[in-house]
Amino acid sequence: MCQFCVKEQHPQRGTICLESGSYLKNYAGCKGCGKREPLKTFEMSTQEDNDGEELVTYKHICPSCEHLVAEHEYTFRVEGKYQEYMMTCLLCGTAADSISILPESPTENTSTF
Ligand SMILES: [Zn+2]
Ligand SMILES: [Zn+2]
Ligand SMILES: [Zn+2]
Repeated sequence: MCQFCVKEQHPQRGTICLESGSYLKNYAGCKGCGKREPLKTFEMSTQEDNDGEELVTYKHICPSCEHLVAEHEYTFRVEGKYQEYMMTCLLCGTAADSISILPESPTENTSTF
């Protein structure tokens, strides 16, 4: 990870979780070669563990010199009646979101969350 290529490290993004792409507004430019080109996604991988949690990781690299700018992590899981999303990335920032699976408010027992 490289703090010199981003304007702000780990900016707060609220509920905007990216599972692909990059937050180019926060990209200051490559300190390795001086260019500012749309970052390349590298070594993307998706893993799913036994709890059904999905983890997506990839790297943001400079397309000209392959300098590693940031490593991106995105997780998705179902927690009770909610789908929870989380993002951590030096470039894209940190965000979390949870969306109710049910369109209406549940009438049965709700777990304390
Ligand atoms: Zn850099
Ligand atoms: Zn570069
Ligand atoms: Zn990212």
